[in-house]
Amino acid sequence: MTAQLNPRGDVAVLVPAAGAGVRLGPGGPKALRLLGGEPLLVHAVRRVAEAPSVATIVVAAPAADVDHVRRLLAPVAPVTVVPGGADRQQSVAAALAAVPPGPQIVLVHDAARALTPATLVESVAARVRAGHDAVIPVLPVTDTIKEVSADDVVLGTVDRSVLRAVQTPQGFRRSVLVAAHAAALDPLTDDAGLVEKSGGTVTCVPGSELALKITRPFDLMLAEHLLSGGVRFDP
Ligand code: C5P
Repeated sequence: MTAQLNPRGDVAVLVPAAGAGVRLGPGGPKALRLLGGEPLLVHAVRRVAEAPSVATIVVAAPAADVDHVRRLLAPVAPVTVVPGGADRQQSVAAALAAVPPGPQIVLVHDAARALTPATLVESVAARVRAGHDAVIPVLPVTDTIKEVSADDVVLGTVDRSVLRAVQTPQGFRRSVLVAAHAAALDPLTDDAGLVEKSGGTVTCVPGSELALKITRPFDLMLAEHLLSGGVRFDP
């Protein structure tokens, strides 16, 4: 049976958490690295579970850690845990297959974005509910971006006014995400990319600085600082 959170909610959230975390340095799967004494995954799931629209959370855990992750999350929220796959897309597909009938909005949210506020979960879900097939949270790009060759020679400067940095949670009408995954050929780094490839429209909403992806040691230090500084997580 799939664990339920808010039975009146219309949203299922998939949390791919099966990555190795190589860029974070040695120390085990990234989602289980500690931030303020608790695994990143615990922070991420706790905030997702605070969003009133969320009925179901499905976590894709490293295959060897499924039981451990179940025990870890039991006190945090009712969560279904499935073994993840060899890449992110396979982990999302495994979690999607475990969503029970009911929720017609599905969000995909990286465990690595551990400090993402519940308000962002709600704003993405609300935009899907309003009739958009696929919705992504984005931030403007602040650096100048250049295209470079394999031997580090600059090929050109990209107009940054049309660029956006993309975060999660990404939200989808359930049937759209199921169809996009069924049609997927190559592994992509996000789910909206699958919808783009299959000719669908992806809409942007404002993202949050707090939804930063904890990938490198510096990101972890920044997240520790934000957490210990008592940052408000519900701006
Ligand atoms: O690899 P990257 O840092 O982009 O991973 C983004 C998210 O996808 C992370 O939360 C990671 O745990 C997850 N992932 C996964 N299964 C994999 C690889 C990554 O669930 N095989």
